Order: sequence, then C-alpha cells, then structure tokens
Amino acid sequence: MRKAAFVYDEGLVVRTIEEDEEFNPSRLQYTYELLQAYRAFNKSTSRLVVPERADEAKILTFHTRDYVEAVRHCNRGERQCDAARFHFRHYGDNPIFPGMYEVSVMIVGATLKAANLVAEGTVDVAFNHSGGGHHAAPGYASGFCIFNDITIAIKHLLTKGLRVAYIDIDAHHADGVQGAFYDSDRVLTISLHETGRLLFPGTGEPSEIGVGAGKGYSVNIPLAPYTDDEIYLWAFDQIVPKLVDIFKPDIVFTQLGCDTHYLDPMTQLNLTTEGYEGIINRLRKLAPRWVAVGGGGYEMSVVARCWTLAYGIMIDREWPDEIPPNYRELYGLKRLRDTDKPRIDSRVKKEARRFAEDSVAAVKRLVFPYQGL
Ligand SMILES: [Zn+2]
Repeated sequence: MRKAAFVYDEGLVVRTIEEDEEFNPSRLQYTYELLQAYRAFNKSTSRLVVPERADEAKILTFHTRDYVEAVRHCNRGERQCDAARFHFRHYGDNPIFPGMYEVSVMIVGATLKAANLVAEGTVDVAFNHSGGGHHAAPGYASGFCIFNDITIAIKHLLTKGLRVAYIDIDAHHADGVQGAFYDSDRVLTISLHETGRLLFPGTGEPSEIGVGAGKGYSVNIPLAPYTDDEIYLWAFDQIVPKLVDIFKPDIVFTQLGCDTHYLDPMTQLNLTTEGYEGIINRLRKLAPRWVAVGGGGYEMSVVARCWTLAYGIMIDREWPDEIPPNYRELYGLKRLRDTDKPRIDSRVKKEARRFAEDSVAAVKRLVFPYQGL
C-alpha cells in the first residue's frame, strides 16, 4: 500500500498587500479545502503533515547572503530594501509584502519536509502545493519566486547521496532549477513549457543541454501556443520515460504547475484537466519515490481542481466528479473535471504539432547521444 503525505499549514498562505495581485495566494487554501471536502486525509495512508521553517543555513546552500538579508529586511513590508538590485518591485510579479521572509522560509521548510519524508521512507509520495519556486535565482527574485525551494531541497537530497530526476510541467521554463544543476550529472532536469520566444522567462530551448559533466542532463521541450492534451502527451511520451528510465533516479521530483490549462490567463497552452491527469498518471508510473511541489496556476477554479486531481492520483483514489456539497455551496464549483474543451482551429493545431515535433527531434538529436540512446 502506497503511503502519502500532504504538507500544509495556514502559515504557508501568502497574503500580499496588493488586492488585485494576480498571484492570488489563497488558491492554496482553496485547494486544501477541496481536498478536505473529499476527505483526502482521513486514512493512515494519506497524512496531513505540518511543516517547519527551514534553517537559514539551508537557504544559504543556494541563495547569497546579501539576498537573504534583503528578503529579511523587506519582511515588514517597508520599502527599505534595495529593491532594484534584488528584482523586487512594489507592484508586478515580485512584490514586497509584510511577512515575506517568514512565509518564504516556511515554504522552503515545507518542501524540505516533503523531501525528507520521501528520502527517509516514511512515505512514498509527498506533495507541498505551496512550493514550486522554480525561477528564483541565487541573488534575486524572479517570476513570483522569492526562494527556490526546489533547488534547496534537491541539494539537500544530494547530500544524502541520492540521484534526483526533476520534471517540471509548469507552463513556464524552469530556468532557476536548470541553472542550479547545469554542470551536474547527478540531477536530470526536464522542463516542458510554452516556448520562451513568447513567454517569460524567455529561455528553455532544446539547445540548452548542460555544460561540462552536465551535458545531456538538461532537457527542454518547448511547445507552441494552443498545444493541446494530445500533442503535449505525445511529446512527453517521446522523451521523458526513456530519459528517466536510463537515469535511474532514487527520487523523482516534480513541479506540478497547472498554468498549462486553457483557461489560465497568463499562458497560451491549451490543456484540459484530462490532459493534466494524463501527465500525473505518467509521472506516477515513473516515480515510485516521489516529491511533488505546486507552481503556477492563475485561474482559481482550475488550480484547486488540478491539484486535487493530482493528489488523488498520488494516493490511488478517484474522486467523484461531483464536487462535495459543502464546497460547492461555498465556492460554486460543480464539477472536478472539465466539461468543456477548447476548440482549436485545425491550421493552428497543425502548427502546434509541427512545433512539438521539431522540439522532440531536437532533444533526440542533442541530448539522447549523451545518454547512449
Ligand atoms: Zn508558470
């Protein structure tokens, strides 16, 4: 019987000062409440686990001391830190807000908790949906990400002698995580994302394959706008299982951003909950020992549904499609899975397919030889 843990505490919920902030953090709470409505945590095989703050020493395994100090200084929400140097803005995608240091340290602690539970064999899979800061750089914030909880946790797993395969399905390229392990053959990083030619952060070309010992251990599968479930899953199947199989990781670490959904306001990919479930089912097969974090997702109704579906797959439970009455009455969500599908013009779909085929061919040409494929 698989054992799972969901790491959550109210202290992880970011409350920024900007009310119209697109990164609406109560999405974490909405997801947690939906899982509660489905009674996801009432079994010994599925536990709710409270995180602890990360030690600052752990944060410093990736981030510079100057930057950590700056986040701490900004913690009171006063505009006293050197904002430009650390890429903070008083509006936009890296806002300064009260409590930002405290909540960021909690998020890193929650991802470390998930990593430790899996590494120690307490559970087979652990999910921290507040984590997923894949853009944060050593010395500055980027794309809503203050601390790179993923990189810090993977570095922690490496100190235990474990090999980690990192798979990132967020609509945006995992530039921060890729950069952290670009010269390493101990971490395989794979990112599927909307092409950086059109979307932040602008990177993630198949030609970014790593350097030195890391050559062939950075994998990028850019996709065109309007890529749908069918094209996405085809590209995934062409590349990901083969590389993970040959890498033989001890732990698979996944970033499960759900901003690939067709209703997401920030991206142009066109996945549905069916496609999302398709990816999570594939990850489940690849990951007997599995650490999962959240990530992007900017349409509230989509995020809670996608991450609830993901956790269901992690614990081998198929939730009824009808949302439990208490949650339905509170938030008005009726169905767990999408009932509509986006309509895509056949010419546009053809272009998206050709783009995916080009990306897959490039990865096979540039990466596979380094892996003996
Ligand atoms: Zn994203």
